[in-house]
Amino acid sequence: MAVYNFGSINWDHVFTVPHLVRTGETLSSLGYQVFLGGKGANQSVALAKAGADVHHIGALKQSDPALEHLTSLGVCTSGIEQLDIATGQAMIQVMPDGDNAIVLSPGANHRNHLSWLERQLANAESDDWLLLQNETNLIEAAANKGQQHSMKVAFNPAPMDKDKVHRLLSLLDLLIINQIELTDLTGTEDLENALQQLHHQAPSLAILVTLGSRGALYQSTTERVSTQGFRVQAVDTTGAGDTFIGYFIAALDNGLTPSTALSQASAAAAISVTQHGAMDAIPNADEVHYFMD
Ligand code: ATP
Repeated sequence: MAVYNFGSINWDHVFTVPHLVRTGETLSSLGYQVFLGGKGANQSVALAKAGADVHHIGALKQSDPALEHLTSLGVCTSGIEQLDIATGQAMIQVMPDGDNAIVLSPGANHRNHLSWLERQLANAESDDWLLLQNETNLIEAAANKGQQHSMKVAFNPAPMDKDKVHRLLSLLDLLIINQIELTDLTGTEDLENALQQLHHQAPSLAILVTLGSRGALYQSTTERVSTQGFRVQAVDTTGAGDTFIGYFIAALDNGLTPSTALSQASAAAAISVTQHGAMDAIPNADEVHYFMD
């Protein structure tokens, strides 16, 4: 089965700064690096490294080297539209203690065309996955299309938009959410309460909640499984969620049980937090299997 991931592609400009820049201040950074990122692109790379047949759908500036970069990492990029609009850009200030502030210019990520999206999904088969995050336009149209094609639709509502999630719930098979987003969405910090609320609203929805270093929990209509996560020395947790999601969907797509998918995803995410960066820190499947043995 294939995984279609309709998601963002950004260039992340990371400035290491002694403090976050203040009003009116011009601040020299201590360091500057550029990385390919965006939740969509990160999750596509995690899917590809996990061995999935991943088709990224999205948009960027024509001839942007990001296209070749994603291809070289195993992502099918023929569904990425090349536009005369800047690729998404993120300006990230990071302080030495890891605190950060981000300014995002969505650019092409918010200019996807419906006709292009429909064309990319035209050959999707029932039971293929459609994965969505909340960094592009046309999310609701995409979820509708996915449902029409009898695809399995998964949504990672980051950044959170409560109204949009409520509108989408009936179209989804799987909601993938971290604990802060879940509290935001349901208004309660109590996990059981939050899961119950969502179950009332969408009885057939499966929910995967990631809990940072405390692991993750998967709840469907038929089962509940959880993992405590692996104990590692974390140096940078950026992109842990994206790694987890890519590995989890890839495992389900490969016919593995949710329990095995949780173990593989939490191993992959644990490895990723021991390294700096987001996309660069995503391990390949061999590393994950070696780590789990
Ligand atoms: P991010 O936004 O940083 O990408 P997130 O907030 O979406 O992440 P988290 O719940 O923080 O997602 O983390 C996702 C998964 O990564 C967790 O379920 C866990 O398996 C793994 N993980 C995160 N932090 C750690 C850690 N310190 N040690 C081990 N595993 C971790």
